[in-house]
Amino acid sequence: MSLLDKFAAVKETKNALGCTGQDPTAVVFDTIDTATLGTVNGRKTILAGTNNYLGLTFDPACIAAGVEALETFGSGTTGSRMANGSYAAHIALERELADFYQCPNAGVFSTGYAANLGVLTALLGSGDVVLLDSDAHASLYDGCRMSGADVFRFKHNDVQSLEKRLKRLETRANRCLIVTEGMYSVLGDCAPLAEISELKQRFGVLLLVDEAHSLGVYGEHGRGVAEAQGVLDQVDFTVGTFSKSLGAMGGFCASRHEVLGLFRYVSRPFIFTASPSPSVIATTREALRQLRSRPELRNTLWASARRLYSSLQGLGYELGPEVSPVIAVRFRDRDTALSSWYQLLKSGVYVNLMLPPATPGGASFLRCSVSAAHTDEQISTIIEKFTELKVT
Ligand code: PMP
Repeated sequence: MSLLDKFAAVKETKNALGCTGQDPTAVVFDTIDTATLGTVNGRKTILAGTNNYLGLTFDPACIAAGVEALETFGSGTTGSRMANGSYAAHIALERELADFYQCPNAGVFSTGYAANLGVLTALLGSGDVVLLDSDAHASLYDGCRMSGADVFRFKHNDVQSLEKRLKRLETRANRCLIVTEGMYSVLGDCAPLAEISELKQRFGVLLLVDEAHSLGVYGEHGRGVAEAQGVLDQVDFTVGTFSKSLGAMGGFCASRHEVLGLFRYVSRPFIFTASPSPSVIATTREALRQLRSRPELRNTLWASARRLYSSLQGLGYELGPEVSPVIAVRFRDRDTALSSWYQLLKSGVYVNLMLPPATPGGASFLRCSVSAAHTDEQISTIIEKFTELKVT
């Protein structure tokens, strides 16, 4: 078999996905009119499959900040911060993130994916141990694998399974990191961080929480699930992304450990890639300001999320275990999920199709994500289109 032959199987999978008339992995948005409306195949389409939780992608102040940065600092940094220097705005954003998380340190990366690779590979090495939630994002898996540490998975959100693995550590506890997320992105369920923190303290290990989907969504100040559960002070490393609530691109790590300041000397995904462009940093800084100063965005988001969740539940759909801005609708099999996804798209509603093996328990879902920018009317239309699915 040649190197290229392996793509035959990929082609087969791709063709099967396109059998309904639209390959769900190849949707093209010809226009994006607002945070929640675009055009697909010539049709105005409600965007209910973004991670634009606070709806800030079209915020006038964010856009103005980005334009000003483009005009003042140019379109890109054209290099990495280690080799080519930082812009003052990179440092300012790091200070603002550290202030937001009330930590001495925060580091900015070019993507959320790079943040996870960068932090995990800097922290962990051969002989160290990671206890990783089995449903963790691919970037957490990849970072753990790249680090060379011994990786043991515990059952998703299962504190007993985690405790069992912690008990087996014995003398290795001082070289162990627990890795979880805040809110999980497929089902919208939250990690039991209060119980995980209790275990972390009892066994004397460290804890990293990826709040990619929970930043701006959970907690009194929008810091995430750890804040909502009152255990932010127990989290050693908070990682996250600018590509969801902050409506931009990039990633970060904030830590109460001073040593995080040294990660940049050893973290290859930080050192060997270009730094975020000035406009991206500028919109992110403005979005973070808004996240902090406009709690009403979170209230609007949650009101719409509660309404959509209870309406879909009332229609008899099987949903994820708790109300959240990510609402996963379970379908009995892959083909039904695929055809339902396409029917929604044709009726002007875009949601995400989640198929195995990328899903928990090998199930098939349509994943809706709610935005603070969705109007009541748009939420009503989404409910109406899901109602029509039930009768076809
Ligand atoms: N962590 C989690 C939990 C994610 O869901 C994602 C992206 N979906 C990432 C990290 C990576 O973030 P980014 O897309 O900004 O690289």
